[in-house]
Amino acid sequence: MKQIQDTIINEFKEIFRGEVLLPGDKSYESARQIWNGMFDRKPAIIARCIGTSDVINAVNFARDNNALIAVKGGGHNSAGNAVCDDGVMIDLSLLRRVNVDAKNKTVRVDGGALLGDVDTETQLYGLAVSGGGIISHTGVGGLTLGGGFGWISRKYGLAIDNLISADVITAEGKLLTASADENPDLFWGIRGGGGNFGVVTSFTFKCVEIGSAVYSGLIVKKFDDIKAYMQFHRDYVRGLPDEMSVWMVVRHAPPLPFLPKEVHGKLVVIVPFVWLGDEAEGARLIKPIREVTASHGEAIGMNPWVAWQSGFDGLVEHGARNYWKSHHIKELSDDCIDRVVEFAGKMPSDEIEVFIPHMEGTPSRVQENDTAFAHRKTPFVLNIHTRWRNVSDDEKCLSWVRKFHKSTEAFAQGVYVNFLSDEGETRVKDAYTKEVWERLVQVKNKYDPNNLFKMNQNIKPSL
Ligand SMILES: Cc1cc2nc3c(=O)[nH]c(=O)nc-3n(C[C@H](O)[C@H](O)[C@H](O)COP(=O)(O)OP(=O)(O)OC[C@H]3O[C@@H](n4cnc5c(N)ncnc54)[C@H](O)[C@@H]3O)c2cc1C
Repeated sequence: MKQIQDTIINEFKEIFRGEVLLPGDKSYESARQIWNGMFDRKPAIIARCIGTSDVINAVNFARDNNALIAVKGGGHNSAGNAVCDDGVMIDLSLLRRVNVDAKNKTVRVDGGALLGDVDTETQLYGLAVSGGGIISHTGVGGLTLGGGFGWISRKYGLAIDNLISADVITAEGKLLTASADENPDLFWGIRGGGGNFGVVTSFTFKCVEIGSAVYSGLIVKKFDDIKAYMQFHRDYVRGLPDEMSVWMVVRHAPPLPFLPKEVHGKLVVIVPFVWLGDEAEGARLIKPIREVTASHGEAIGMNPWVAWQSGFDGLVEHGARNYWKSHHIKELSDDCIDRVVEFAGKMPSDEIEVFIPHMEGTPSRVQENDTAFAHRKTPFVLNIHTRWRNVSDDEKCLSWVRKFHKSTEAFAQGVYVNFLSDEGETRVKDAYTKEVWERLVQVKNKYDPNNLFKMNQNIKPSL
């Protein structure tokens, strides 16, 4: 980026309603931080927007000065695209309003809101947005633009399946509404194509009624029995009704109060679940988990939705070093399970999680080309959350996760775009089918022909 003259920055400051932060300014250091501590990038300018006009002005300013743009929603993505070196960081973190229309069961959410903002406001009416993740400090922006799944998405669909419309600021600095009726090609693209087509200043979602508490909990199984447990789990979860989501996480046990002290810090298999329905029926459905192999302990009950949705936040706070590798898994075959057991057994850090959510249900009944989220039929995701603290551990952690991921490639088909690290164009293409990719390129050609928005899992225009 060429040096932007002070006079031009001053002119920008005059029309910008939020804060324009430059290196050395008081809030500059905190504003440039993102969730993944691996990234220490320093934008030339941070534009902290407080309204849609600020976003338009920031896009125009960056484009007219040939500056790289990074858009920060929740700043949570492990690939680090919310921040750039030099360039302009369009920071949406002050844009967090959530307005619920309880009568029509819809909610309008600002582009920088966090999932916890949405849960807190919708729960005032016993409502929730499906697909809204599992960690409350994740951004709605990045999550939704990539697809968005959560505890109730097997029943009610991905976040994009519940998206009614979005306001998008394009590369030309125009404010467009994207919905089934207005700019439908853009609406198709933003439902899975990430931040490639513009900056979304607000999303409007359908809500679902879930009440204020759900029957949910954790059953902690012994790592020694992991193979037997996974052989059971792979078939058991696929036979459950959509109202029940049962996932699994292999990690070192946190100091949970319901676990014996000697288990704290030991490798375990955590089986969390959420049931949307009657407590007795939920208890009946989870009984086989309890019976199949021995457990270290469990904590189960009616949990307030907001508490459940933020209950795991402490395990993944901002600031640690993170590198994620992921793919969708066609089948948890014995060979695949063997790879998980082998690599989980030699985790190089106590904070690593091998996270295997079960995805089938309502999302897989949507046609694969209806939205840009292409891989809807694969039953499982294998997400390797590699997380550690010290730079000196980088090499051993990165080497472990790369080898682990490679060893499971034979069982994989596609990847969720939101779980990609910075892995190059071929991997971005893996998030889509050929047909979806070609259509995404057409949408990119139309709305961002010069690739102004490239700090993302980038879809290059072909013009
Ligand atoms: C601990 C953890 C748990 C997670 N759990 C889940 C989960 O349960 N379900 C799930 O589906 N995903 C989950 N994710 C993945 C999550 O969906 C992505 O990391 C997502 O990109 C985060 O969105 P963000 O706005 O916080 O990210 P950011 O880092 O701010 O942005 C990510 C990308 O989206 C773009 N972007 C963000 N907001 C906008 C906007 N308003 N307009 C245009 N572009 C924008 C950014 O420019 C960037 O390219 C999780 C991630 C983490 C780290």
